[in-house]
Amino acid sequence: MMKLNFSECARSVSNSATREILKVTEQPEIISFAGGLPAPELFPVAGIKAACEAVLDEAGEQALQYSTTEGYLPLREAIAERMRTLGIVTTPEHLLVLTGSQQGLDLTGKLFLDKGDVVICESPTYLAAINAFKAYSPRFVEVPMDDGGMRMDELELALQANPNAKFIYTIPDFQNPTGRTMKLERRKKLVELANQYNIVILEDNPYGAIRFVGKDLPPVKHFDTEGRVIYLSTFSKIFAPGLRLGWICADESILNKYVAFKQATDLHTDSFAQRVTAKYMELFDLEEHIQKIKGVYRARREKMMECIDAFFPKQLKHSAPEGGLFIWVELPEEINVQNLFKKCLDNKVAFVPGDSFFPNDAKINAFRLNYSNMSEEKIVEGMKRIGNVLNETLML
Ligand code: PMP
Repeated sequence: MMKLNFSECARSVSNSATREILKVTEQPEIISFAGGLPAPELFPVAGIKAACEAVLDEAGEQALQYSTTEGYLPLREAIAERMRTLGIVTTPEHLLVLTGSQQGLDLTGKLFLDKGDVVICESPTYLAAINAFKAYSPRFVEVPMDDGGMRMDELELALQANPNAKFIYTIPDFQNPTGRTMKLERRKKLVELANQYNIVILEDNPYGAIRFVGKDLPPVKHFDTEGRVIYLSTFSKIFAPGLRLGWICADESILNKYVAFKQATDLHTDSFAQRVTAKYMELFDLEEHIQKIKGVYRARREKMMECIDAFFPKQLKHSAPEGGLFIWVELPEEINVQNLFKKCLDNKVAFVPGDSFFPNDAKINAFRLNYSNMSEEKIVEGMKRIGNVLNETLML
């Protein structure tokens, strides 16, 4: 038999159970609240078509040529402009266009983590960030959350216990998977603690622009006084994920390292996608498009919350997201979430069992629901089915 000399780390990676789950939930007859997909009917196909044509007519040859690692300057200028409206004053020199913000997670692992290094993160946290960091064999220290996001008293304990931790990973707005948002005073405290304990913060903020309840909060980066917050965001949730366009905003000393490592990874992000997106923003109003997305997601979120009230057992706790894509539902201890998931699949409805979102052992019995990708009609039908399974399980 052929001997495959994989690295130690690659040998330790097995096929993720969650990936297998998500494959099953992609079957068309299943009502899936499992993925984190935007609503495809909202993609601005006609506008993107017009932008493609304009790019090809005006600069077809350059758009199809290799380009610089940092990214297309007019796109970085447009991103800097957007960032200013979100509360971060920056310039194109502090921005690097990424192949999705997911690439920023991988590059952060590559830049900061040696085997056994500590990553401090929210508990639970984004599954694909866990997997991206895992490639560099760190140790995860999880910080408990409540409805106001990561708890700062617990964070301070984690920082005291792990003085050499490499970075704090946080998703402050409408977190994946909980849908929770970090309170304003905690954002300030987070930066204060990072300054005090001399540690970098990785702020992963793909959802901040999709708030449909309450007032916008400034990103954590807004409070950065020492250039220690690395900010990641993306066009995936406000435009089109298939274009694979994200960005990182950081101080030059940090950004230069990302540029060097990105160059070794993929030379640069798709030039055509970058130019098409910049052209779209020139020809059309991206903000108007985002307003449309918010309207649809607000209605779907309302519908899903109504269904929780109507169909789920009353003793279940759940988050009440003010934006983003997800609701987190907590289960009583006696319910086995994997069995619940299997029964729901038999009834052709799916979610993601919560244990996938804990880098160490699962600390909370829960599951994640996505509302962005299903019509209101399907939300009602799917939630009825989950509700029936939950009620049956609790009566046993
Ligand atoms: N971070 C978080 C918290 C996410 O939920 C996602 C996408 N689901 C990403 C990063 C990656 O997004 P993308 O690579 O499409 O920009």
